[in-house]
Amino acid sequence: MEGPQVKALADRLAELVVNRRVDRIDVPADRWQANVLLKHCTGKNINAIHSLGQWLIWDFSHGISWACFPLRTWQWSLESTNRHSENCKPLIPRAGRRPLLKLTFSNEGTFTLSGRPIFLVLMTEAVARHPSLRELGPDIFDSALTISEWAARVRAAKARNISQALLNPSITCGIGNELKCETLFTAHLHPSTPVASLSAAELEHCLQTVRELASAGYHRAMGQPFPLHDHPRVYDRAGEPCDNCGAPIEVDRSGRDGRWSWFCPICQAPPEEPTLFEKLPFSQRDLPREVASRDVPPS
Ligand SMILES: [Zn+2]
Repeated sequence: MEGPQVKALADRLAELVVNRRVDRIDVPADRWQANVLLKHCTGKNINAIHSLGQWLIWDFSHGISWACFPLRTWQWSLESTNRHSENCKPLIPRAGRRPLLKLTFSNEGTFTLSGRPIFLVLMTEAVARHPSLRELGPDIFDSALTISEWAARVRAAKARNISQALLNPSITCGIGNELKCETLFTAHLHPSTPVASLSAAELEHCLQTVRELASAGYHRAMGQPFPLHDHPRVYDRAGEPCDNCGAPIEVDRSGRDGRWSWFCPICQAPPEEPTLFEKLPFSQRDLPREVASRDVPPS
């Protein structure tokens, strides 16, 4: 799950269970070190559920918070008799997945989490100071983040390329690999484009694009129709034809320590690389052969 999906989940959960009491918490005994702390939240109210990037944060009434981060796909199941749940599509866990955590609310049904998240149990006042959260940049949905501030953060972070800059949570949090690939495709940027080569206008367009796509992802995760790109246009589509030009989509690592990037080699033309010793590109280097043969002195 990426930032938009986690934010949608937080909003859906908040609508259903904030200010409700947790009647019962079931945790598999062999899966959680924090078994005892988790169970201490039984009988307490949930004050708030919110997201920060890909973190889902629960605040309980006794000053304890849970912070969950998806390592792989999360599966959530939410069964509620609450009248508000009519607006929510049910979330059904994949068959055979072992649940990690099951909450039973007072007269409000159950909530089950399956998957492999990082799961922290912290004092609410200490959440922002935890090493995993204190370095996070502004959330991609943070409307207070201005374009000039974002551009300054991107340039200051000295990322190797725009692909790594988008994924760097200390610049902005909530952008996962799929959102990154789709943003670069929509903005016509090759994943390896050096940050230093981007103009202020290109960076502005990049931020606008990532915000539009994040918003679309959020609305889809909320079960609301959203016309913008309802399927991945490049992500995980290696070899399939590009929607725009028909060229086969390629996949590559963006930089030595980069994540996989899916992109269209035509719509996202690669940046021009500086040539060593002023060598000519191959197409031009081939040309002088004829010239050279003409220059051979007659024997
Ligand atoms: Zn294309």
